Amino acid sequence: MSSNTDQKAEDSIENEVEEAIDSQINHADQITYWESQSSDVNGMLGGYPQVSRIDLRGSKNFITKIRRLTSRDEPESTNGKASADSTPSKQLRRVVDCGAGIGRITTGLLLNVADTVDIVEPVKKFTDVLRDLEPTAGQGKVGGIFVCGLENWSPAEDKSYDIVWIQWCLGHLNDQQAVDLLVRAGKSLRRNDSGYEGWILVKENLSTDVNGEDLFDELDSSVTRSDQKFKDIFERANMKVLKMELQSGFPKDLYPVKMYALTPR
Ligand code: SAH
Repeated sequence: MSSNTDQKAEDSIENEVEEAIDSQINHADQITYWESQSSDVNGMLGGYPQVSRIDLRGSKNFITKIRRLTSRDEPESTNGKASADSTPSKQLRRVVDCGAGIGRITTGLLLNVADTVDIVEPVKKFTDVLRDLEPTAGQGKVGGIFVCGLENWSPAEDKSYDIVWIQWCLGHLNDQQAVDLLVRAGKSLRRNDSGYEGWILVKENLSTDVNGEDLFDELDSSVTRSDQKFKDIFERANMKVLKMELQSGFPKDLYPVKMYALTPR
């Protein structure tokens, strides 16, 4: 039998566990919230549709930087420096848009850089928008559409993804689910004999809490994490941060938004 002191210690551990911010996450509440949102950019971005253009431009530039870091097939320009805006020309083969919603990022960015974009999104009415999408000449096409939450998504381990894009949806997973997702995503990345070619992009809001705590949002049952919490999660998933960058140009009343490019260690 445990002593009174042991019991107290156990109770306090239990309390700590009970009070973990991410334990408040409830997947059914998330779906109820998102099903009530409109299937357009305004619905996706919580009433700030104007940030979409800036967001996509920041992401595009970030992809270019990571492709320069990771690819061996891009020749340098003659003066040894690639120009700031030059996008590596070769199309990527396959990427996946996680928590894609109506495919704001897929249509505004990923179809321009990849032949095939797979979709993971738990709200069916959002994925219907993508199912109805007419192919555009010179652009990639939408591939598999997986209607499920990321906590239930297991990508094929066939080393086929050049990028796993996770934006504005990781807050719907608790910390352990986020770690597990990154581990699974890591196994789906393109590899060659000399290592990983594919990478994972996490682009999320950062908590501005003065004590550095994560914040729970009851409205959509999500957590907004601190930069340190993201780094802890990446560490637990055995991911190395290739590069990180704050998104610039957003309205001051929004949370700061950070991009992290990850690769398995
Ligand atoms: N990434 C898109 C959509 C952001 S809105 C963009 O940036 O435009 C957040 C999306 O996360 C919604 O489409 C919502 O349905 C989805 N979502 C909610 N719960 C989720 C979960 N458990 N796993 C994955 N996505 C989830």
